[in-house]
Amino acid sequence: MKRKDLDIDRICEKCEFSVGICDDFYVLCKKKGVVPGGHYCRKFVYDPLKRDPGKIPGVMLPDMETIDEISDLT
Ligand code: SF4
Repeated sequence: MKRKDLDIDRICEKCEFSVGICDDFYVLCKKKGVVPGGHYCRKFVYDPLKRDPGKIPGVMLPDMETIDEISDLT
């Protein structure tokens, strides 16, 4: 799958040329200087390392009753 076929946000925050700065709203672009994070231009190049994977599901631990049932079987 090519990069341009991916369903990605084409914004400066995800661009290879941007670097985060102390401000949550702006990023520093190597080509255009300080720009808003939601901005974009034709030079956009997707940086997969800036992908937000979302929430990772937690590990489900068995309760004590299930542990006792398993230990009785062995
Ligand atoms: S202004 Fe263009 S080149 Fe700079 S970070 Fe945004 S999309 Fe990338």
